[in-house]
Amino acid sequence: MNVYIETLGCQMNRLDSELITGQLLAAGYEITDDLEAADVFLINTCSVRAQAENKVYSRLGREAAIKRRRIVGVLGCLAQRRGASLLKRYPFVDIICGPGQLHALGEMIRHAAKGERTVACDPDRRDGRAVFASEGNSSIDSLDHDRNASVGSPAQAYVRIMRGCDKFCTYCIVPFVRGPEISRSPEAIYQEVKQLADAGRGEITLLGQTVNSYRYSAGDTSIRFSDLLERLAAIGGVRRLRFVTSYPTDFGGDILQTMRDLPNICRYIHCPPQSGSDRILKAMNRKYTRAQYDSFIDRAYDYLPDVTIAGDFIVGFPGERESDHQASADLIRRSRFKNSFIFKYSARPGTVGAKTLKDDVPFEVKRERNRELLAVQAEVSLEHFRSFTGRQVELLVEGPSPLAGKPINVSDDPNCVQMLGRTSGDHITVFQGPESLAGQYVNARVTGATAFTLFAEFCGGGERS
Ligand code: SF4
Repeated sequence: MNVYIETLGCQMNRLDSELITGQLLAAGYEITDDLEAADVFLINTCSVRAQAENKVYSRLGREAAIKRRRIVGVLGCLAQRRGASLLKRYPFVDIICGPGQLHALGEMIRHAAKGERTVACDPDRRDGRAVFASEGNSSIDSLDHDRNASVGSPAQAYVRIMRGCDKFCTYCIVPFVRGPEISRSPEAIYQEVKQLADAGRGEITLLGQTVNSYRYSAGDTSIRFSDLLERLAAIGGVRRLRFVTSYPTDFGGDILQTMRDLPNICRYIHCPPQSGSDRILKAMNRKYTRAQYDSFIDRAYDYLPDVTIAGDFIVGFPGERESDHQASADLIRRSRFKNSFIFKYSARPGTVGAKTLKDDVPFEVKRERNRELLAVQAEVSLEHFRSFTGRQVELLVEGPSPLAGKPINVSDDPNCVQMLGRTSGDHITVFQGPESLAGQYVNARVTGATAFTLFAEFCGGGERS
């Protein structure tokens, strides 16, 4: 059977889809990128924002219009949040599978082929009740454990080090759909990273909803995130080690020191503040103050003067006043973020915010504040990117640039096209070079910049990790 997998949402979903792909290939299924010809259509969904859910509904609406009957599976966070209630509107769906049950997907497809429907998600989580690690699912490792290291991008790989979240920010659905925070054993992570590095995938990105909160205890031993980083960075073939996404108050000096001491840990931190105002941070149940966030940023630049930091913000949170909004703009300037993801607040069903806070900032005001923060961030980003002009950077080349329609530094060499690479600090960089450089590490000299991109000249290198 041919399986088509569509992935929406975050890196965690992209990793899940990669792991599912390996699992289904091992079980004898074929993976196709031809949606029309597929016998099985799986959509791995996101539930973090209303827009992400609407995409799923519109995709399922199109599927309903297709005459040919095939197996349809809804996977991931929306499946977990909505469960069997999805069937009322989409009765043709055969599989509804939350993120904790993906290891059994092959079996679910076999059942669907016999006309048996599966709904596999935890009803407690779906109802919005907090469950705790002791009640957590035993399948934490099962999908990751059986990974096929050669499925996916040839030079990069995501590795999950923990699942779930216990922070319960009032706007966020994750603790309810991804479950309690559970850290994987360091041995299992070590083996997985080693296999990936041995397969030539030398850029490893560690994933967790609050990745730096990682802590694994067994008997008298307790492994902190910084200990894990140190172990993984020592694996031969790990050329770059990244991690996303961090939580501010769990970012101790031990992590900064480990980053400073180990050059193959990327000089990149994604640590969302969400707001620059103490009033709003409290209403969001973020467990830090503005002063604490500022102090974290100062420590990060003290330890790692060349570090790149990225943030996230929510504008128009319930009760947000103009002064709170200005505090967020001030935080962007003060923190010198490379970039920020900025979102307009929308109440997500099942969250504490949706139940207890009035969504009282008018849409027009949210839109205007969103526009203003983006403009402030663009100014700060431009200054940050321009500071690289004239410097030499090391790039991992991802492939031909999607900006190919707007060529820069055009080469006379007919074998060169516009290529895209990424620095250790996660700067997208374009340069002219041969397509054969994809998946290799090269050096390039930066000749110019916009607020989002470095432009560079290829100056040599071209080695695999
Ligand atoms: S830290 Fe907050 S925003 Fe991040 S996943 Fe956990 S609850 Fe959601």
